[in-house]
Amino acid sequence: MDDYGLDWAQEEYDRQEPQEGDVVGTCAYCGRDIYGGEKVYVIDGDWYCTACVTEAIADEEGPPDEY
Ligand SMILES: [Zn+2]
Repeated sequence: MDDYGLDWAQEEYDRQEPQEGDVVGTCAYCGRDIYGGEKVYVIDGDWYCTACVTEAIADEEGPPDEY
């Protein structure tokens, strides 16, 4: 087989991430467009944008009681 060069070229092509401007999905919570290369959170197969999910460190008190 002499297709090593072709495989390498395809690999380089696949490695290119979509740039901004290509909508690849929508946030399952707020519904806004999610662009290629953007960070998202995946929960049970759904995408959530970074505006809808906040990272925090859990402490001993737990989340505020809203009731
Ligand atoms: Zn969102």
